[in-house]
Amino acid sequence: MTQVRSVLELAAAHAADFLEGLDTAPVAATATLVELRSALGGPLPETGLPAEKVIAELVRDVDGGILGSTGGRFFGWVIGGGLPAALAADWLTATWDQNAALYACGPAEAVIEEIAGNWLKELLGLPADATFAFTTGAQMAHVTALAAARSRLLAARSWDVERRGLAGAPALRVLCGGRQHGSIDRAVRLLGVGTDCLRSVGTDPEARIDLGALEGQLAADPGAPTIVCLQAGEINTGAFDPFGEACRLAHDYAAWVHVDGAFGLWATTSPRYTQLTAGIERADSWTTDGHKWLNVPFDSGFAFVRDAAAHRVAMTTQASYLVTAADATHPARDQIDWNPEWSRRGRAVAVFAAIRSLGREGIREMIERCSDHAHRLVTELGALPGAELLVEPQINQGLVRFLAPDGDHDRRTDEVITSVQASGEAWFGGTTWNGMRAMRVSVINWQTNDNDVDRAVAAVREALTRPPAAATASS
Ligand SMILES: *Cc1c(COP(=O)(O)O)cnc(C)c1O
Repeated sequence: MTQVRSVLELAAAHAADFLEGLDTAPVAATATLVELRSALGGPLPETGLPAEKVIAELVRDVDGGILGSTGGRFFGWVIGGGLPAALAADWLTATWDQNAALYACGPAEAVIEEIAGNWLKELLGLPADATFAFTTGAQMAHVTALAAARSRLLAARSWDVERRGLAGAPALRVLCGGRQHGSIDRAVRLLGVGTDCLRSVGTDPEARIDLGALEGQLAADPGAPTIVCLQAGEINTGAFDPFGEACRLAHDYAAWVHVDGAFGLWATTSPRYTQLTAGIERADSWTTDGHKWLNVPFDSGFAFVRDAAAHRVAMTTQASYLVTAADATHPARDQIDWNPEWSRRGRAVAVFAAIRSLGREGIREMIERCSDHAHRLVTELGALPGAELLVEPQINQGLVRFLAPDGDHDRRTDEVITSVQASGEAWFGGTTWNGMRAMRVSVINWQTNDNDVDRAVAAVREALTRPPAAATASS
């Protein structure tokens, strides 16, 4: 046991050093791919090493290869950090090493998941009797929810998809705005529905699904088994679909409405955004992430499904060696009935800890604080000389771009992004939006504060003082 204690203490000390150093360390990785391969690589070890040595060398060899994405000046993609309570709970999850497949393999973990799932529904304003699954991320949450949709839509046409598969089944169609996240397309692929079944109905200039076009598509083939995918938080603009109207139309045609709310579903926690999220509770399934805006370490997504029977039938499995806790008065919740995985980590523990550490009030405050920072960051960046504001954040996402005297704004935008990344002061990513290159700003980390916003604006201002590359390259 001495070795266990000393190696854990060593890891804890390294972890604390890393987190405390985030404010002064470069946000970008500084090591190259070749350097990392050479530092970490080598022949397959024939013999082992003491645990402390393994950890000490690991920490040494990853040097320069850890992105500061868990810190307050990382604004790339939509990443999120780790609240201290959630991080510590995640360590304990690995320590307890419960198999969160069944109540019998980890009773406390199963109960924690049941409680955290119910808290999440209440927090997010979803129906109290919706069922849920804790998945690796929104990707697998989509697969889970859409498997339930597939099951119910085909069962309503006397087709048992669990038994018969899709060959010969009535053709499903999936109606989307056209700006859906790629994880929807991949979920449709994994479920055997295929991307040919995806129809883009089109969006308005704000990237919201076009209701007239949606109704037209629904009416054109009223009997087809149909899933309508809406989104709460489009990845570039943070746009929200008109949920109330879209759900009413879809339900008129007995379609299943699925909402991708990977980060945007968290807007339901703030009264500020009631207009954006109105009617979202009328959908049939929802996905969101814990590892984005709840600031839980990675490996944390959630699916919620209104139709418990469809969810269960799509996911449940039986095997002779599974032990189900069959107490008639107090039936336990076996996670395997709702999840796509068999064995898995107890990923609800960190979620439970995050919710307990912030409470409903603290979560609302975190969502509003990130959105306030995003608004200031995007408007201040957009006001810099040589910059243009493209999308002002509605919640936590916005877009700016940078202008070149020769009119090649796309090149200038990518150049400024690269230059800011190289400065190590802040990290933004690029995207293509409405045919132009843009710099995407996502503020989703619990740690981001006013000073981080000031430093990020200063880093971009500094990058803008460097002349466009083409002007120097042409000499
Ligand atoms: C991040 C994201 C996803 C994918 O989520 P993962 O947790 O990475 O699987 C899906 N949709 C949207 C809108 C996202 O931002």
